[in-house]
Amino acid sequence: MAIQRTFSIIKPDATARNITGKIISKFEDAGLRVVASKRIHMTRAQAEGFYAVHKERPFFGELVEFMMSGPVVVQVLEGEDAVAKNREVMGATNPADAAEGTIRKEFALSIGENSVHGSDAPETAAEEIKFFFSDDEIVG
Ligand code: ADP
Ligand code: MG
Repeated sequence: MAIQRTFSIIKPDATARNITGKIISKFEDAGLRVVASKRIHMTRAQAEGFYAVHKERPFFGELVEFMMSGPVVVQVLEGEDAVAKNREVMGATNPADAAEGTIRKEFALSIGENSVHGSDAPETAAEEIKFFFSDDEIVG
């Protein structure tokens, strides 16, 4: 498996608790490298646009409000098999189902306030990276 890039967000529940460093350590310990990073406060347009794929889901409104509720850290992670590796380190969407040692098991508060986002496939990773970063902001 070749070196890949994936897109990650540290969500508002985690920035509020000042645990961004602890979360980034989990990525680094797994061999993922942060090659782009910025702390932003998402606008409604950004939150709705980013999660457009979920707009018919019952939790869409709640998700958008949550993602706008405080600062987030958007980042690009690089490494061997990065898309799958990031999902593995994140753990299951619902922290109740997440494996021991994963970010969501250790830090998530609920299925909604679950501390991190990660792309689910190489194609979505490329789209999500482009949504937040220009090429010159990514320094590998
Ligand atoms: P993942 O983030 O693991 O890829 P999904 O893509 O299915 O999960 O959902 C996107 C985000 O929507 C989740 O990370 C979570 O913040 C929120 N979400 C998912 N399911 C629910 C739910 N049943 N109730 C509230 N929020 C949810
Ligand atoms: Mg998803």
